[in-house]
Amino acid sequence: MARYIGPVCKLCRREGGKLYLKGERCFSEKCAVTRRPYPPGQHGQGRIKLSEYALRLREKQKVRRIYGLLERQFRSYYFDASGMRGRTGEEMLGVLERRLDNVVQRMGFATTRAQGRQLVRHNHVLVNGKRVNIPSFRVNVNDKIEIREASRKIAFVAAALEMAAGRPQASWVEVDKANFSGVVKTMPVRDELNEPMIREQHVVEYYSR
Ligand code: SF4
Repeated sequence: MARYIGPVCKLCRREGGKLYLKGERCFSEKCAVTRRPYPPGQHGQGRIKLSEYALRLREKQKVRRIYGLLERQFRSYYFDASGMRGRTGEEMLGVLERRLDNVVQRMGFATTRAQGRQLVRHNHVLVNGKRVNIPSFRVNVNDKIEIREASRKIAFVAAALEMAAGRPQASWVEVDKANFSGVVKTMPVRDELNEPMIREQHVVEYYSR
């Protein structure tokens, strides 16, 4: 599946807030949202009044960019979720969170989802003892995720674990840092997905217009 490979700080500036797409830099003074807190481009500093449609579009784009997906794949998550029992917005966030690249990042083996995706694509990740190299692989409760033994020396994995130690850990995953592994304890908890803030109802309204 294709992915966006352009500049990412522009995406944060367009969405008007940090999407945390660059790992450590996002927490530093160098963050582009801190340095230039207005949209990119020639008219970025002009006055903008967003229409209802634009508000929903921006929220959809924001969530899509947080998870690093292109439109077709993102939309398919929405339609998957709309067939589920719960509230569509929450179900959609649930399936997005259960992507393997996201879980690798949530467990602290990668600083960003893009890095998590790279770990998965390059065969560094095992799920229940088997190699899985599909970033969109959907994890289930009790799945064990681990970094392959031969891959545990990768410098950015150690750096990511160190960085994760200083940040709050998602409650729905349990991580065993010494063994580079983790278990999915429960389904993702919606209340923990507030940074960056997501208004999933706007995404639902965008697609059901
Ligand atoms: Fe760039 Fe991260 Fe700041 Fe976004 S949050 S602008 S990705 S440094």
